Amino acid sequence: MTRVCVVGSVNMDMGFDVDTLPHPGETVLAASFRSTPGGKGANQAVAAARAGAHVQFVGAVGDDSAATALRAHLSANDVGIDGLITVPGPSGSAVVVVDSTAENLIVVAPGANGGLALDSARLRGLVADCDVLLLQLEIPVTTAIAAAREAHSAGATVIVNASPSGADPAELAELAELTDVLVVNETEAAHWFWPVAHRVITRGADGASYAGGGQEFTATPPAVAVVDTSGAGDVFAGVLAAGWANGHDHALRRACAAGALATLVPGAGDCAPYGEAIDEVILPD
Ligand code: ADP
Repeated sequence: MTRVCVVGSVNMDMGFDVDTLPHPGETVLAASFRSTPGGKGANQAVAAARAGAHVQFVGAVGDDSAATALRAHLSANDVGIDGLITVPGPSGSAVVVVDSTAENLIVVAPGANGGLALDSARLRGLVADCDVLLLQLEIPVTTAIAAAREAHSAGATVIVNASPSGADPAELAELAELTDVLVVNETEAAHWFWPVAHRVITRGADGASYAGGGQEFTATPPAVAVVDTSGAGDVFAGVLAAGWANGHDHALRRACAAGALATLVPGAGDCAPYGEAIDEVILPD
C-alpha cells in the first residue's frame, strides 16, 4: 500500500445557495446553508485514502469548535492525524456563495493554515516517512519547501499541486527544484515557468495530459452528467498520488476517472469516490 503524506490546508467551508450573488453593500437571503470540511490539503488526503492509500496528514487547526469537526472528518476517512497540530486562534474557513447559474464568490480566511510550520523533529519525521509527498499552496510556501526538502532527501516522490497560483516566483522556483511531479489545471499551468521531471495538466471534461521523460499522452475521463465540478481537481491530485507508484499511465487514467465521478456529487469536501467505484468506470488503454 502506497504511503502518502499530505502537508496542506484544512478548512471549514460555509456554503450558501442564493438566487443572485450580492453586490457590494447588498444583503441577500440564502435558500440553503451547509457547513462542510474542506481545504485542498484535507480534500486531497481524503481522496487518496478512499482510493486505497495509507495517508498521513500534516496540517494545522485552531483552538475553536471547528477544529473538533475537522479532526473527526479526517479520522472518519482513515486519514492519520498524528501530524495535525493546534495553533492558537481560528481554524481556516471559507465562505462559498453559489447563485442559480452556478456562478460563485469565495472568500478564504487561512486562519491556522497560515501558522503551519515544520518546526519539530516529530513533524519532519512524519514527512520523511512516506513514499509520496503531496503538496498544495494553501499553506505558507516556505513550509511546502521545507516538507519537499525533507521528503526529497528521504527518497520519496514529491508531487506538487501548484494551486492556487499567485505565490512568490522566487519561492516557487525553489519548490520546483524539489518537485518530481507537477499537477496543475490549464489556468495554473500558465503561471508555472520551471522545468519538472513529470508534468500533469488537468483539462476538465477533456481529461488530463502527461509530459515527461520524452513521453507524452492524454487520459480521457468517462462521460458523466456533471452536477458540480468543485473538488474534482483535488480528487484528481489525491488519486494520482495514491497510484503514482503503480505506473504513471494507470495512475493518470485512475485519477481522471475519479475526477469525473467527483463531478457527480455537489460540494468539494465529500465528493471523493472509493477505489472500487473508480475501478468500475476506469477506461481501458
Ligand atoms: P480543477 O477543478 O482543478 O480546475 P479540472 O476542471 O481540470 O480541475 O478537473 C480535474 C479532473 O476532473 C479532470 O482531469 C477530469 O478527470 C475530471 N473532470 C472535471 N470536469 C469534468 C467533466 N465535465 N467531465 C468529466 N470529467 C471531468
